[in-house]
Amino acid sequence: MDRKRFYDFAQSLPIVNTHSHHLPDEEHPALNLAEMFRNSYLNWCGVPVPSGESEEEIAHWLDAVRTRSYFVWLERALMELYGIDEHLHAGSWEIFDRAVRQAHQDRDWHLKILRENCRYEAVLLDAYWSPGSHAGHPELFRPAYRVNSIFYGYDDKAVDHNDHNFQAALGVRTRDIEEYTRLIKHTLREKKRAGCSVLKCAIAYDRSLCFGKGTKEQAQKAMLDHPEPRDIEAFQDYVFDCICETAVELGMPVQIHTGLGLMDRSGAMQLQPLIARHPQTTFWLMHGSYPWTSDIAGLVHAYPNVWADLCWLPLLSPAAAHRLMHELIDVCNADRVVWGCDTWTSEESYGARLAFLDVLSRVLAERVESGIMRENDALRYAEAVLHDNAAGILKS
Ligand SMILES: [Zn+2]
Repeated sequence: MDRKRFYDFAQSLPIVNTHSHHLPDEEHPALNLAEMFRNSYLNWCGVPVPSGESEEEIAHWLDAVRTRSYFVWLERALMELYGIDEHLHAGSWEIFDRAVRQAHQDRDWHLKILRENCRYEAVLLDAYWSPGSHAGHPELFRPAYRVNSIFYGYDDKAVDHNDHNFQAALGVRTRDIEEYTRLIKHTLREKKRAGCSVLKCAIAYDRSLCFGKGTKEQAQKAMLDHPEPRDIEAFQDYVFDCICETAVELGMPVQIHTGLGLMDRSGAMQLQPLIARHPQTTFWLMHGSYPWTSDIAGLVHAYPNVWADLCWLPLLSPAAAHRLMHELIDVCNADRVVWGCDTWTSEESYGARLAFLDVLSRVLAERVESGIMRENDALRYAEAVLHDNAAGILKS
């Protein structure tokens, strides 16, 4: 079976997408080409997205981003979705822009792309602006509950990188660690009851991923006046243990952003002590820990409760995704690898999916051709990674 046939097979499969920041309904009809790029990873490339009014500005921007993976796959998605057969350049900007604006006059267009073009059966939604939201579409979006604010509830002033404070969000004020942990457990149970399927931790944008074992006494100190930095660290260590324990009770995987972020001890291997302390907790380590991708392969090999969530990675670096996927097949069963788009718009989500299918079909074809994987196992692998593995947790 050649790569094209693997690709066609994978493309025909329904997908459970493990991670998305899909914008609220009302923001999609307002999209034009520039706004779409601003709501994509192209906004992270250090060169401002052009307004589209100056050809010179467009050409300058394209020179800076054209070869980046973020651009390659989003451009390809736009060309496929809108039937455009030329690349984006200063002279074709208007064609792309018009296609985007006209399509989004249908207010459901963004959902049609997700359902029909991407074939998403379900999408785990990390709406960090409204943790636990299903954006009005519970049949498609399964909420992730973002737990970052819990790490910042030691007083009423501290906030995570999204400006959230757990106590302030709940409208409570306690300076007692026991009461605080009861509040965590109660809130997570309520979120589960309200439909949340996973817990999401993006703390790598706030601090390192080294989580030691904090004691209750140390954690309590952080809730009193003038805590030392080490008390706050102990508080965060202690509450993460509480989150991991509650996740077991609720049957919810804990998704953890690994790799990029502060780039200060944000590689997945930093989580080893936490993972070792919680053998019953299912950890979905996200983004392949890029650029420390082999951390993921090592951890899934050593710990049966660790999964590799490849969300974002194929869009960020297909080369890294290709290498990690080979390593994961080498060291891990097919049942602990999942994928998500990690995007804000449907067009970029489609591009992320194109990137992943490209990597997946390439890896499977290479292994079958070199005689180290049987064709049926390769087909089964695609089904497991795209759908079955993540679908299993939505049932619980
Ligand atoms: Zn994300």
